[in-house]
Amino acid sequence: RGDSKDYDREVQSVCPYCGVGCQLSFKIKDDKIKYVEGAGGPANENRLCVKGRFGFDYVDHPHRLKVPLIRREDAPAKGLNVDPGDLSTHFREATWEEALDAAARGLKGRGGEIAGFGSAKCSNEEAYLFQKFIREGFGHNNVDHCTRLCHASSVAALMENVGSGAVTATFNEIENADVAIVIGANPTENHPVAATYFKQFAKRGGKLIVMDPRGQGLKRHASHMLQFRPGADVSMLNAIMHVIVEEGLYDQQYIEGYTENFEAMKAHLADFTPEAMEKVCGIEADVLRDVARVFAGAKAGMIFWGMGVSQHIHGTDNSRCLISLALMCGHVGRPGAGLHPLRGQNNVQGASDAGMIPMFLPDYQPVEDEGVRSAFNEIWEGDIVNPVKGLTVVEIMDAIHDDVIKGMYILGENPAMSDPDVEHARDALAKLDHLVVQDIFLTETANYADVILPASAFAEKTGTVTNTNRQVQMGRPVVSPPGDAREDWWITTELAKRCGLEWSYAHPREVFAEMQRSMASMDNISWERLEREDVVTYPSLSESDPGQAIVFGDGFPRAGGRARFTPANVIAPAEVPDTEFPFVLTTGRQLEHWHTGSMTRRASVLDGLEPEANGSLHPKTLRRLGIAPGDMMRVETRRGAISIMARADRAVSEDMVFIPFAYVEAAANVLTNPALDPYGKIPEFKFSACRVSALQKV
Ligand code: SF4
Repeated sequence: RGDSKDYDREVQSVCPYCGVGCQLSFKIKDDKIKYVEGAGGPANENRLCVKGRFGFDYVDHPHRLKVPLIRREDAPAKGLNVDPGDLSTHFREATWEEALDAAARGLKGRGGEIAGFGSAKCSNEEAYLFQKFIREGFGHNNVDHCTRLCHASSVAALMENVGSGAVTATFNEIENADVAIVIGANPTENHPVAATYFKQFAKRGGKLIVMDPRGQGLKRHASHMLQFRPGADVSMLNAIMHVIVEEGLYDQQYIEGYTENFEAMKAHLADFTPEAMEKVCGIEADVLRDVARVFAGAKAGMIFWGMGVSQHIHGTDNSRCLISLALMCGHVGRPGAGLHPLRGQNNVQGASDAGMIPMFLPDYQPVEDEGVRSAFNEIWEGDIVNPVKGLTVVEIMDAIHDDVIKGMYILGENPAMSDPDVEHARDALAKLDHLVVQDIFLTETANYADVILPASAFAEKTGTVTNTNRQVQMGRPVVSPPGDAREDWWITTELAKRCGLEWSYAHPREVFAEMQRSMASMDNISWERLEREDVVTYPSLSESDPGQAIVFGDGFPRAGGRARFTPANVIAPAEVPDTEFPFVLTTGRQLEHWHTGSMTRRASVLDGLEPEANGSLHPKTLRRLGIAPGDMMRVETRRGAISIMARADRAVSEDMVFIPFAYVEAAANVLTNPALDPYGKIPEFKFSACRVSALQKV
């Protein structure tokens, strides 16, 4: 970085990476980003992590897609076989007219044969247009995105029991808490700026209870570290709630005033004594009792959770337990109290709010509800909304194999890296007779495309995004898109027109205005207001209200205004270790790399810090297997095998392997289990049975 003479102008916008939604000040010279500083947004107050501060130069990477591309007739068979430095072996350059016509020709009029994956890295307006395009253009609801792979089960449990899929309090509310549980989340790696607030909380004496099968960066700040057995969340949480009931520590007044079904919950918990559960979850009964007393005895407590909770076949049950735990202690709807699933991508909250999910229209309004459908049909001017829920991410891949789905439009998603049992997903993509991919790089998924539409990076577009805190923020263009790349809202609009839809959007502000007509959550949040104020939290009660950081203090958006206790039983993971596959494989992210790596592996500083794929095992396990750190090893499950470098990590328990999923050369998802949670339809990324062996040194 340099001093103020080093740049021509500065632009304030939002970080393109995680759901914390930090505001950035971009310093620009000659239409290039020179460096980035933290700006004073409400979620970050000038703080940034390494990704926000140093992860911006991917926008100038030589592999950026700059012109539309059409697959050559003489191209080799579809596969993961395109050299990103020379696309001409598989694709020919085309004009926008030609490429859009080709894209539309393979989609138009094919109804239920077409499905769409949108992106949580695009703006709210782009997400809204994408779901509308699939619904209006093809007459069904087969539209989904990466929320299915991260917090779909959390949203299912929240909708069921609280009546809303978003957080009840911002993470910054931890400032007013005296106890906080962080479970199945690794904020120092995945939500680093939020983690700074958690550390401050612990430093000022707040009780930080960390629950995670892996050790992690918050461990040294924790008053309690519960390193429980992978997959044993429900038994541990039920045991904690058992103590709260047994010792009468629950908030009777709150339960009577704001909840239902507590008596059934009490009866359900009777058998979950800490003494019975300690063998199941691996946490001593005394510790479970202490945690119960600390959490229930606090004046105000919060619960934060991540994908360690959600990515299980019992992910919805895990979240149901967390919701029940907060409700029985009355830890919702007050300063310092609340439920907070830490959302992953920078706009996964907004993309879900905007309806890019197969069962809900914008604002989580069910497609099955006739009143909801007629309201949307009126706004969209046609008999458009199909009453049948659409297929989810993994179901769509299965439907391709079953010859039901035959064409796809994929915007900014990378299922050829992100789906479980990824070879199954890659085979599905290869089988499609028409695949349109809209992205900024030739992603692994774009390798399979028939038409590629070059899109704009977040720093090149105008649009709003919504972070994990429900804060709607204005994203501003910082630099121009390269070559002939275009903004995603423009591309989707042009494609929709060629598919016969009468669309005439000329600017994202027009899309936002239409969203406001169908989304009560956007009441009092106008485009002009966001341009002026940068950020407004929803719900906002008036044009002068900055928005409600805490919700549901006076009841819940459910019938009768009450939240619900839904008991959860212990369900074993879909695939438990055995003599053949004795280890538990778990996958996730790293501080330096973001999701499938398409951006961060092309960001020079970040890739310089973590250039190679590593699989982490406990040093004792490595010794037992005769593998030294830095050696190559083979990790294998019933789906496939990869070769990956070994890393020693004491945070990983002795029966576990951790592999990040950002590296195509050692793709973790070759190994993962596609078994789904029945409610959220989320795959069990956090638990597969695997075996590990040394690879012979060359
Ligand atoms: Fe960006 Fe998240 Fe880091 Fe903030 S914490 S700078 S939003 S990656």
